[in-house]
Amino acid sequence: MNLCGTLTLEGGPIYCLVTHRIHHAHTDAPGDPHTPRDGGWWAHVGWILWGTGQQYDRSVVARYAPDMVKDRFHLWLNQLYWVPLVFLGLGLLAFGGWPYLMWGTFFRVTFNLHATWLVNSATHMWGRRRFATRDDSRNNWWVALLTFGEGWHNNHHAHPTSARHGLKWYEIDFNWWGIRLMQLMGLARRIKRVRFNRASTAWHLVTGRVKSHRSYEGIN
Ligand SMILES: [Zn+2]
Ligand SMILES: [Zn+2]
Repeated sequence: MNLCGTLTLEGGPIYCLVTHRIHHAHTDAPGDPHTPRDGGWWAHVGWILWGTGQQYDRSVVARYAPDMVKDRFHLWLNQLYWVPLVFLGLGLLAFGGWPYLMWGTFFRVTFNLHATWLVNSATHMWGRRRFATRDDSRNNWWVALLTFGEGWHNNHHAHPTSARHGLKWYEIDFNWWGIRLMQLMGLARRIKRVRFNRASTAWHLVTGRVKSHRSYEGIN
C-alpha cells in the first residue's frame, strides 16, 4: 500500500509519517511544520518549497517513527520513493503515449499534491468545528470531496486514531468505505473508529466490528 503511496510523489513514506506525527504533536503551535498561523501559503506549499520540513536526521526519525526504522523495505522506499513513479511513467508512455503520461502522471500528481496540501492549509482555516480541539482544525466539505474524506479534519484532530473521519451520514468519507470493504474481506482487523454514545452524549473511540449506523443519526 505504501508502494502505491509513493506514486503521489510526496516524498519518502517515513519522512511523511514523521511530518504528520510532528504536526499532531505541535498542531498550530511552535514546531508545527505546516500551520496557517505562519501564513496560509506557507501551510499550503511554502513549507515544502522553502522549508526543511521534509528532511530529518536520524534522532528525529527514531523518536517519531521508531516502528519504521527497523523495517528495511520502508528504509529503502524512503530513499528511492521516486523509482516506482518513474517506472509507472515509462509504462504509461509505452502503453498509451503522451496523453497517458500527461494525465496518468503529471496531471494526477499535481492535482493530488494540491488536494493533499489543502488538508494542511484550508482545513486549518475554513470550515466548521464540531470538537473544541486546542488547534484550528476544521471540517471542510470541499476538501473532503477532493481528498476522499480527509477534509473532515477537525474530527481527525479530535480523534486522530479513528479510521473513520466523516462521522455523520452526510460527511462523505470514501477512505472509510474502502477500509470497511477491506474489513469485510478480512484484510483489515481491529479497526478503530469514533461512535456517538447516546447515554453519555459524547463521541467515543471504539475498536472492532461495526454493528449499526443508527447511532450516528440525529447528532451534530
Ligand atoms: Zn492538521
Ligand atoms: Zn493526522
